[in-house]
Amino acid sequence: MLTLTLKRALLFVSLLLVNFLASAQEVIEPVNAHPEWSRPYPPFKIAGNLYYVGTYDLACYLIVTPKGNILINTGLAASLSTIKASIETLGFKFSATKILLTTQAHHDHMGAMAAIKKLTGAKMMVDEGDSSVVADGGRSDYAFGGNISKYAPVKIDRILHNGDTIKLGSMKLVMLHHPGHTKGSCSFLFDVKDKERSYRVLVANMPTIVTDKKFSDIPAYPGIASDYEYTIAAMKKLRFDIWLASHASQFELQRKHQPGDAYNPVAFIDRKGYDAQLNDLQVQFLKKLNSK
Ligand SMILES: [Zn+2]
Repeated sequence: MLTLTLKRALLFVSLLLVNFLASAQEVIEPVNAHPEWSRPYPPFKIAGNLYYVGTYDLACYLIVTPKGNILINTGLAASLSTIKASIETLGFKFSATKILLTTQAHHDHMGAMAAIKKLTGAKMMVDEGDSSVVADGGRSDYAFGGNISKYAPVKIDRILHNGDTIKLGSMKLVMLHHPGHTKGSCSFLFDVKDKERSYRVLVANMPTIVTDKKFSDIPAYPGIASDYEYTIAAMKKLRFDIWLASHASQFELQRKHQPGDAYNPVAFIDRKGYDAQLNDLQVQFLKKLNSK
């Protein structure tokens, strides 16, 4: 028989444990510095079975197949209801989401991922370089890491490597490892088709630089400079018809498409814009690399 004192002691220890676990899982999303980024945006069909379901700037893509759907990126934690509503407005079932992908493990693309996984049971697939950051909600991020998660950690079902294929129904996406922005930032290349033709689509993670530190002052990511160099060179060689990105502003969504516009995949064919932006990012990279 347990004495009252022992019972109290056990209760005390278990409360301590609960508190410890709660603080170990504490999630505080960074202050929303760009409120317009997460403003709702009307969903629309980009090309074939590919749809835009993101917010004004935090791009999310839905690829619809008879075997269920693939969702790339989620926006902020609070974007959950917007994305769900967008998917349903287009006439699809939120519960049909089977695969979850992200172009980078930052909170503005991962915020609602854990909740969406819980609600849909979809499988989370992540580039190996971002696997620890996804699993700890951003604590181990080389630039923004710390003791508090920036988004709810997500259990990973499959780790992806450069060139791996993600299949669902007749869809086949190739994951391209484009590290630098995060250690496992990545792009997805795939074909979609409509009645007229097929389109090769690149959902690109553009290699923007997030740290103010010199590359040589980032012990948490010793290979950062060579990763950016690799990514810029690899991205320049890619061939595609339609270019999309993690942020709508990067591929100028609002210039190419107005809410209510008729279906017009050709609006997103923009090699020149892609090359110009990559060249610009290369200039920024070299400037930082050569800064003393
Ligand atoms: Zn980012």
